Amino acid sequence: MSYSLLVMKFGGTNMGDGAAIRHSASLVTRSIKEEIKVVVVVSAMAGVTNQLLKIAASAETGDIASANDEIAAMRTRHFTAAQELGAAPDSDTVREIREMHETLRQAVYGVYLLRELTPRSRDLIVAFGERLSAPLMSLALEGMQVHAKHVSGGEAGILTDSHFGNAKPLPQTYERVKDRLTGFLSAGVTPVVAGFMGETEKGATSTLGRGGTDFTATIIGKALSADEVWAWKDVDGVMSADPRVVKDAQNIEILSYGEVMELAYFGAKVLHPLAVTPIKESGIPLRLKNSTDPDFAGTLVQPEPQHIPDRPVKAVTSIKNVSLITVTGAGVLGVPEVIASVFTALARENITLLMVSQSSSMSNVSLAVPGSDAGRTLQALRSGLSSELNVEEQNDVAVLAIVGSGMRGQRGVSAKLFASLASSGVNVLMISQGGSELNISVAIEGGQVDTATLAVHQAFGLGRAAVSG
Ligand code: ADP
Ligand code: ASP
Ligand code: MG
Repeated sequence: MSYSLLVMKFGGTNMGDGAAIRHSASLVTRSIKEEIKVVVVVSAMAGVTNQLLKIAASAETGDIASANDEIAAMRTRHFTAAQELGAAPDSDTVREIREMHETLRQAVYGVYLLRELTPRSRDLIVAFGERLSAPLMSLALEGMQVHAKHVSGGEAGILTDSHFGNAKPLPQTYERVKDRLTGFLSAGVTPVVAGFMGETEKGATSTLGRGGTDFTATIIGKALSADEVWAWKDVDGVMSADPRVVKDAQNIEILSYGEVMELAYFGAKVLHPLAVTPIKESGIPLRLKNSTDPDFAGTLVQPEPQHIPDRPVKAVTSIKNVSLITVTGAGVLGVPEVIASVFTALARENITLLMVSQSSSMSNVSLAVPGSDAGRTLQALRSGLSSELNVEEQNDVAVLAIVGSGMRGQRGVSAKLFASLASSGVNVLMISQGGSELNISVAIEGGQVDTATLAVHQAFGLGRAAVSG
């Protein structure tokens, strides 16, 4: 296929140091040499986002000395990368990086003075990671004779709601991004957009949730009606399991938008869970490609799933650090209002529900929520429900899910799942199957999640050995 416009996204590893950034820039120029226009979207250098979160937390607790030490170390890293990419000490890039670090230092000092870290100030601080790596990508591209210009997410036109930490693009975003970036492209300029961030209508910096640079790339893909969005990764694409846990995991050639969303939602860190939402309607394909093997096709994400005979399940994923909350009591028995008030309380608190299960007698309702939301969930339920009801929590739980469109209407899939869990001694705490039949998820004890993942991966024959053997 011949392309005219691609959006290319580079994550933290691909922006890790000067050499990695130069290699990423070379992947962009490869396409530009073929007369393809490219919009580049970049993440922070690997580890920088976590470092910024730590800096913000130190300032809030009054430890400004540690915060400043970390900022200094980070600044050295950005300067070193700029130098590796050929920037002179008095160059515009070095000056820009110095100024950004100074603004960051001031923002962190403000948090220290107030001893208060609001979601809004956390977003301002954490988005510096992407803002600082964008000039480095421009520098690398300029070094390859590509005329590049870097912009923040807000400058690129991404306008979001005010859910700081998990903001979503507003509908006007798409027209704005189109207006702003088309100008660059028609002038022969390659835009380099700082991922993960946007701005609110009041001009405050917001972030799109962890892993949000994938989301930035697809938002831009939709706005410009790109031919494809390419997310360059440090793995072959979406794999049949987390390759750090299952050595035998293999690349999945084709996934539908629905399948990849389920995978990302149930913990496959390789893609932001909402990344496919912007491109779904227009059917723009997303490719996940390995930056160290650019000729390998990777994973193609498209509207329709691919049915592979005898392979109803395509991947197994898991979410760790989950809490199970169970509401019990005679009052739950046959009273739909109780269920309604459970959901109302959770919605009010904006809590992510990973699984819900209700016994058919309606004498209890169990909910799986991220461990970090457990405290708020308990509080919301205890204050929102009648005191006759009992609310209990169980911590250190994991949710394991199998995903694949071929499970629909296929008998024996659950039997195989439960048999493989039972034979490896894994106790199932809760079960749920989505109405779409794209996944079956189970809650298990946290300590058993890797054993369970390996067993299930093997039982469904998902590994490389199963294919070649
Ligand atoms: P990037 O910064 O490029 O977005 P991430 O680190 O966010 O990269 O995501 C890629 C990582 O996701 C891989 O290195 C891998 O360890 C992890 N991962 C977890 N589950 C999967 C999976 N099913 N397929 C591929 N990678 C996975
Ligand atoms: N840098 C951000 C994160 O670590 C966004 C991303 O990498 O996509 O979450
Ligand atoms: Mg990521």
